[in-house]
Amino acid sequence: MNPLLPDMQQTLALLDNMQPDTHLLHVLHALQEALQCIPPAAVPAIAGKLGLPISQVQAVIEFHAFFHQSPRGQYRILFSNCPQCGFQVAGGNLLQHLRSLLHVKGDATREDGRVSIAETSFIGMCDHGPSLLVNGLPVSGMDMEKLDLLAILIERQTPVSSWPAEWMRISERIRLPGLLLQAAQLKGEAVQTGLRLGAAGILHELQQSGLRGRGGAGFGTAQKWLMTRDAQAAKHYVVCNADEGEPGTFKDRALLHLHADTLFEGMTLSALCLNAQHGFLYLRGEYRYLLPHLLDVLAQRRQQGLLGKNILGHADFAFDIEIVVGAGAYICGEESALIESLEGKRGIPRVRPPFPVTHGYLGYPTAVNNVETFLAAAQILRHGSEWFRNCGTAQSSGSKLLSISGDCARPGIYEYPYGTRLAQILQDCGADQPQAVQLGGAAGTLLDPGQFSRTLSFEDLSSSGSLMVIGQQRNLLALAQNFAHFFAHESCGFCTPCRVGSKLLSQYLDKLAAGHATCIDMELALQVCNTASLYSHCGLGKSIGNPLLSLQQYFPQLMAQCLQPDSYTPQFDLDAALFEARRITQRDDAAAHLANDYRHAHS
Ligand code: SF4
Repeated sequence: MNPLLPDMQQTLALLDNMQPDTHLLHVLHALQEALQCIPPAAVPAIAGKLGLPISQVQAVIEFHAFFHQSPRGQYRILFSNCPQCGFQVAGGNLLQHLRSLLHVKGDATREDGRVSIAETSFIGMCDHGPSLLVNGLPVSGMDMEKLDLLAILIERQTPVSSWPAEWMRISERIRLPGLLLQAAQLKGEAVQTGLRLGAAGILHELQQSGLRGRGGAGFGTAQKWLMTRDAQAAKHYVVCNADEGEPGTFKDRALLHLHADTLFEGMTLSALCLNAQHGFLYLRGEYRYLLPHLLDVLAQRRQQGLLGKNILGHADFAFDIEIVVGAGAYICGEESALIESLEGKRGIPRVRPPFPVTHGYLGYPTAVNNVETFLAAAQILRHGSEWFRNCGTAQSSGSKLLSISGDCARPGIYEYPYGTRLAQILQDCGADQPQAVQLGGAAGTLLDPGQFSRTLSFEDLSSSGSLMVIGQQRNLLALAQNFAHFFAHESCGFCTPCRVGSKLLSQYLDKLAAGHATCIDMELALQVCNTASLYSHCGLGKSIGNPLLSLQQYFPQLMAQCLQPDSYTPQFDLDAALFEARRITQRDDAAAHLANDYRHAHS
């Protein structure tokens, strides 16, 4: 028995204090928060409490990167390994430095149970430089000196709440506000208009505005709400996807922080339109620290008569919103995986059709939109469709929020009318002759300077909102390699083209980055990209080849330079790998080495 594991009495006492209808993810978060892990022996008790199969509870724990069944440290540190703002800095490797200061080996928890340190991908702090999460709280602007102090605080067991307040303060860097960010927060004005117009009027106004979903796919919002509303069922649901996990994106953090009222107003409008009584906001696990603020805003809206029963005095309008917090699974940003997760299952994307508009949460019609879309819908009802339509292009009305990070003088959040050229955006954020731009995160596209005259729009360059500026000094292969590992880690494993393909691609990218790849490796890697794109079950698998394909398309010379002239080279240097064997046997004569002719004969 592990002496660090909490005893069952403690676990059962915590479970006793929870309501039986508490969401599984909340139960798991709460147990882990209190006990530093979810003890294996607690799984049957959790299942019994919630009336779920034991296998389902166990599967959900194993599915999420943030849940652990062996004790993590009293201080749980998660380092972002983003290639742009991660732990590799000019002065060295921050992660290694901290591990060595605190005597932590790899991901293991230190023997005294004080601290554990692990890597994670993209914690939504790319505009704040190297950052980490300590017990779920963001600590930004890390450097070697700050880590020295952080290690002292941990060794002295200083509670995180007593750490320097400025470390935890997240200043939202709104560099260029536009239509949505300049508009005042809404506290019932749009709902009031919606009540006056009725469902048909709301849909008409949204249709006229041309609003399309801001997640990247660009499906018409009015059309989605109409399809959900028209699906005959006893109940309808509204879901806000606040699980932005695309590398390089952090705009939702600012929206949830500064515009939560307007977001909830948009969800309430949607409910009015669909005749829904229940809504969910699915919050990214990395943003769990925003939960108290969001719950406060919800409570205020209930007090103001903007949520709950009799909204704004209308006896036939009742709606409320529940927040469910994820736990480090990128795939849960996919809408059907998100719905599975809301249902307390693993976030495996569903077979579609049927689509959520007819068969969503618990099989009921469900409208899923992201944070920015709900915000835009609310402001359209407040200001009118013309206000929105007058901004942007014919097919892309309105504005788009961008999270801009990387090698530029002014990282932060920018809001542009659709149709703005990439060159203008780069000039505004102070990007000095970048060698490339990664638009749309890992699943997006790497663009060379020849593409900078293109425009941000659904008809040209569509983006979910992440723009990473890549300076001349950066290694583009290392970036693609990081994304390949990201996909291999985040693949849910349901279908073979993605599960196996993402692993193979990460190996090919390792070989390419190490300078051992040949044109045959490249051909094979491109075949994997093609197979994954054609046969994967969901968008994640279809995108795993994008980093390599973009490199091939826009940087063919770089790719050609990286390839070995031979038809085949092994992934590593076999002769060098035998060094240890030669040392132990005290032989270093020619016969103990692999001869060149041997290597070629086997290549
Ligand atoms: Fe899962 Fe990848 Fe298949 Fe999507 S494509 S279902 S993430 S294995």
